[in-house]
Amino acid sequence: MKNNENKLSMDTLASLCKRRGFIFQSSEIYGGINGFWDYGPLGCELKRNVRETWWKNIVQNRENVVGLDASIIMHPKVWEASGHVGGFQDPMQTCQICKKHLRADQVWEGIKESAWFGSLVRAIEGVPDTNEVTFTGPSLLRWAIRDGKKLAPGLALVRNPQVTLSWLAEKANTTDTVNISCIDLIRHVATEQLAQTGLQTPCPHCGGPLTEPRQFNLMFETYVGAIKSEDHKTYLRPETAQGIFAQFGNVLATSRQKIPFGIAQIGKAFRNEINPRNYTFRSREFEQMELEFFVKPGTDQQWHEYWVEERMKWYQSIGLPAESLQKYVYKKEELAHYASACVDIMYNFPFGMQELEGIAARGDFDLSRHQQFSGKSMEYFNQETNEKFVPHVVEPSAGVDRIVLALLCNAYKEEWLGKDNQVLPAEPGKQPPEGFEARTVMRFHPKIAPVKVAVFPLLKNKPELVEKARGVFDTLQKWYPSFWDVAGAIGRRYRRQDEIGTPFCVTIDFDTLTNNTVTIRERDSMKQERIEISKLADKIHETLA
Ligand code: ATP
Repeated sequence: MKNNENKLSMDTLASLCKRRGFIFQSSEIYGGINGFWDYGPLGCELKRNVRETWWKNIVQNRENVVGLDASIIMHPKVWEASGHVGGFQDPMQTCQICKKHLRADQVWEGIKESAWFGSLVRAIEGVPDTNEVTFTGPSLLRWAIRDGKKLAPGLALVRNPQVTLSWLAEKANTTDTVNISCIDLIRHVATEQLAQTGLQTPCPHCGGPLTEPRQFNLMFETYVGAIKSEDHKTYLRPETAQGIFAQFGNVLATSRQKIPFGIAQIGKAFRNEINPRNYTFRSREFEQMELEFFVKPGTDQQWHEYWVEERMKWYQSIGLPAESLQKYVYKKEELAHYASACVDIMYNFPFGMQELEGIAARGDFDLSRHQQFSGKSMEYFNQETNEKFVPHVVEPSAGVDRIVLALLCNAYKEEWLGKDNQVLPAEPGKQPPEGFEARTVMRFHPKIAPVKVAVFPLLKNKPELVEKARGVFDTLQKWYPSFWDVAGAIGRRYRRQDEIGTPFCVTIDFDTLTNNTVTIRERDSMKQERIEISKLADKIHETLA
């Protein structure tokens, strides 16, 4: 079901994902562990398809990109050179009342999404937005002593409304009205009260004062060998990229590649995120697909533009519509000191426009640092021109789990089906009209769908149908992930496949026994067609390009 704004709720999606075996909470039998997820039978197929289309597009279909599979635990010096030891930190704030830890750059976003802020907005202006409004001191006071007490007991405005009210009165310069947006009000209250009472930015959870931002290292530490001392300390990699930089020399020496060329890697990465949230979007263990594309200094911009466009095309090729994607171009002042350009590819998730991938032109920062820390040359020698240089790099860095989540969000549809396959969009919270039935359908691109085809004998108690169907299934299964289902009416079997996004269902009936034709039904159009068994594999294959 979708909420009032017709946006998919993450609870609805998570419930389907659990029910049908896409995603489970890690260690669920022990109450789960925050920030870790397991992919079930369908989820792991979906994820595998994402990885495989990426690998095909980035490595297999290009002569100038090769692969690598580096270890997760590396020499600790790798992380000193990369700047992650000491540098890979998010400033963090802690609520002095409820003790929750928050990433400083996400606090205001959290406040805007919080229950107490929503209630304050509604109490004051009656509509749930943050536009500039006129409100009065008394309405604010009413909120503070009623809803505020329940929802945000720690909020300065609730604990000491007079400070805010006198500030408002002063700002209004008359008695009781002032034009200000709610978020600005909270911001002012925070800073004003900081000046007057020492209170800080409010906590999104309870309104309590947050500490000053403090540094927090996101790398998971571990020890290599039996002795747990500083000398034996190392880290689970927080990104796959450094394995590529550290092996640059070996790959160059063995692959006969010439600049420009790339090294690609897919693998797990670990970050001890302060606030894992939005389902799998921000996890503590996740998977990255990274390409380091090494170029001649001075050609960075042209290759950066090339890769941004390549990557945008790839997202559309796996079924994410162009209108759901956006590019965020970093402003000069937002770039890391060594980077000359960065573009994030964003997807319009139900919880907002969020990053799927970052594409950065990182100059020679990484290779130069490894050269400096290891004492090994990272230079490239161009025999034709007799030039020697440390290559620059363009890095498209994507997260498998975020892409899987975007694909799940994009695929999820609820519909009402009438006779003759008339389709109405389902209305949230309502029953379908007379003569219609509800279906949930995952409209995955066939390339991405975990199961490509389901095979049904029309009746399960007719051995000749079952045997014939089994033959079709055995053949298809050699080529595609296939599903065998004999249980229930054909309509119910279709519904079960729709819900996991299977693009094709094939039914074997009595006519099949005489003329070797079957009915193939397509998930989205629900059109049924009779075709020869020998043409089935090709028909499915056509849709996977
Ligand atoms: P964010 O700002 O969201 O923390 P980031 O900019 O630090 O992400 P990068 O270091 O650029 O992320 O990592 C590249 C990609 O790896 C991201 O675009 C994202 O798809 C994925 N990724 C990073 N952190 C996580 C995480 N905690 N959970 C899932 N995927 C992640």
